[in-house]
Amino acid sequence: MAATTRAVFLARTPAATGPVDEDFEIRELALAELQPGEVLVRNEFMSVDPSMRGRLEATEKHYTTNFVVDQPLDGSAIGWVVASREPSIPEGVAVRHRMGWRELAIVPLAGAQVIAGSRLPLNTWLGALGQTGFTAYAGLLRVGEFREGDAVFVSAAAGAVGSLVGQFAKLLGASRVVGSAGGETKRALLVDEFGFDDAFDYRAGDIGDQLKRVAPDGIDVYFDNVGGAQLVAALHALRQNGRVALCGMISNFSDADKEDIGHLIQAVLKRVTIRGFIVRDHEDLRPEFEERVSGWLASGELVSRDTIYDGLERGVEALFGVMSGANIGKMLVRLGQG
Ligand code: NAP
Repeated sequence: MAATTRAVFLARTPAATGPVDEDFEIRELALAELQPGEVLVRNEFMSVDPSMRGRLEATEKHYTTNFVVDQPLDGSAIGWVVASREPSIPEGVAVRHRMGWRELAIVPLAGAQVIAGSRLPLNTWLGALGQTGFTAYAGLLRVGEFREGDAVFVSAAAGAVGSLVGQFAKLLGASRVVGSAGGETKRALLVDEFGFDDAFDYRAGDIGDQLKRVAPDGIDVYFDNVGGAQLVAALHALRQNGRVALCGMISNFSDADKEDIGHLIQAVLKRVTIRGFIVRDHEDLRPEFEERVSGWLASGELVSRDTIYDGLERGVEALFGVMSGANIGKMLVRLGQG
């Protein structure tokens, strides 16, 4: 067994202005002797998530841990077992786990999820069938209380979660699905590839006016990936008894205008339910999610797009990229042959 593996470390605390390349370093990470109940995984893909940007800040997260200086980063990854001291997980099996940002990972049984008997490519298990798809599914159905006939608006709609939210809503009988994304290419893609009824570029004009144009009769559900001005516009567009699933607030990292709270009177006037969620609280829905989404993937009804960067060296670039919109669909880094 190899004595070390390459891993991305946090080399120093990022400045208040935000992380830069020099805050990270690829270093050799020592691999301890494999203990009973552990497997050694050669990572094939790792997930790159906006939440990792938040984990670089010292604020309390309640649901995860912050990255620590001189320690490797971590996050979802998937790979093949290359050595095993756990009889239930033999060599050659695919395993999903939380020890990303390194090429080889020692994973204990409790942290290993075996992906058995799947014909789908491994990366699908980090995207449409991974935490990403599950966030879209649980957020839309349980948190947003989606019902057939609802009109749905989703922001960051060309991204990993958003592109699935829109498609799930269509497949489940939404009356209208609209989305927003940055730039004309992504806007067009929402309609042409992901099957949204209409879409707008949130950078290309007043957001409230654009939302009104694509959803002239208002919306029942807003799936919020970004917060800020888009949340404000959605509050105004919501119909009576509308619902907001607060999934993430990525605009808070970049936009000076964070004003949204002042518009909450809209929620009062329209009896709107606004509910934040963390996907891991909804594990009971996972079997139903996997069955339904595997079916949609197998039938070709669901489009699953990934943006894949090659090599551990590009991990930090991928993290900055997911924050600046370089991705369409799920942002992944390929660490192996794929
Ligand atoms: P993603 O949407 O694939 O990538 C992030 C996208 O955000 C970028 O591609 C970019 O697209 C957009 N963006 C960046 N800055 C923006 C800004 N200032 N205003 C509007 N859009 C901006 O990422 P994801 O993994 O699917 O995550 C989407 C959201 O879900 C994130 O907020 C994430 O934190 C959240 N999330 C929450 C949970 C949970 O349990 N609550 C779980 C997973 C993810 P454009 O090119 O369109 O700007």
